[in-house]
Amino acid sequence: MKIYADYAATTPLDPEVKSFMMPFYDEFFGNPSSVHQYGQKAHVALNTARKTVADFLHASLEEIIFTGSATESINTILKGIAFARSSQGKHIITSAVEHDATLQTCTFLETQGFSVSYLPLEKDGSFSLELLEKTIQKDTILISIMACNNEIGTIFPIKEIGKIAHSHSIFFHTDAVQYYPYFSCNVDELQVDALTLSGHKFYGPKGVGILYVRKGNEYMPLLHGGGQEFGKRSSTQNIPGIMGFNKAMELTEISRNENFTRVETFKNLLESKLQIEFPDMIIHGLKSIRSPHISSMRFPEVSGEALMIRLDIAGIAVSIGSACSVSHKTPSHVLSALGLSEKEARETIRVSLGKYTTQEEIEVLIHEITLHVKALRNEKLRM
Ligand code: PLP
Repeated sequence: MKIYADYAATTPLDPEVKSFMMPFYDEFFGNPSSVHQYGQKAHVALNTARKTVADFLHASLEEIIFTGSATESINTILKGIAFARSSQGKHIITSAVEHDATLQTCTFLETQGFSVSYLPLEKDGSFSLELLEKTIQKDTILISIMACNNEIGTIFPIKEIGKIAHSHSIFFHTDAVQYYPYFSCNVDELQVDALTLSGHKFYGPKGVGILYVRKGNEYMPLLHGGGQEFGKRSSTQNIPGIMGFNKAMELTEISRNENFTRVETFKNLLESKLQIEFPDMIIHGLKSIRSPHISSMRFPEVSGEALMIRLDIAGIAVSIGSACSVSHKTPSHVLSALGLSEKEARETIRVSLGKYTTQEEIEVLIHEITLHVKALRNEKLRM
């Protein structure tokens, strides 16, 4: 039996989304900027998709920009706002546990004369609003804080951060990539000026993201060219991908509550059974509010990498941190920010569940994780 338990890295394409996309590869392949009928059909589809996305986020059409990924959206808004507002100040605030798309963009901005404060989390994984207030300076122009952490699943107080940012007239962006599949995103309620989503995290296609930017906030585009996407993202639009994104969003909105309950029940079962087997197991962020789909577990004296490989051989896909950071071979920056030593960080695996996870899979997961953790501990004892 093969089990996919790495939904935070990516999700499979929903077959309904796939069928919805197909006609836009075949029949309706036109360029939406062309004036002939082929182009107009693609243009109508694009407008429909934009309206769907805008309605779900409680935004207006011109506030939605289709991009090639969440990474692109994040680069666009952070660089765009930083350069557009540099005459007002050069200080940026983010957290130390953001996805690399944010962290590496901030590192780049530091080379361009900006200064960045990387806020640590509390030991329990929660975000300190008090620390945020204290870190704001007269020249702070931008705050970017994720809504849900991709490694440990903790949820950040976005609304409250938005209130603080706006009371100081600071632009606020949130990376809602992991948040959106399980929590609705009303941009007014969330009090954000910009928000990023990625299609492949909620059963849509890879290579499509969106960037919401509240009206009235000018920013420098990343891509210059034919002026598509209101001049904010030149490139011929990926119509099949955008239609898939649109359909995946519709399906997410319909089944979000049901998926939340199912996935949370499975995660609780997995964690509680493993906790009984291994009383010394540590669940990162356990005392914070967490998304239902991510569980970051540490088994002391067990290499997370060795455990992941053993599970992979058994047909089970889990991860050790975010998919992107694995290639860095460095211990997770998120776990380090929680105060874990390198050794402790390397004893962690991330299990992430999704809408195709079944009760039977959870039972096999519990069985196999127990088996391999015990085997690895026995091996270590014999060494
Ligand atoms: N932000 C978070 C929290 C993520 O989990 C990811 C994907 O791993 C990204 C951003 C980047 O998304 P994309 O693959 O669309 O560039």
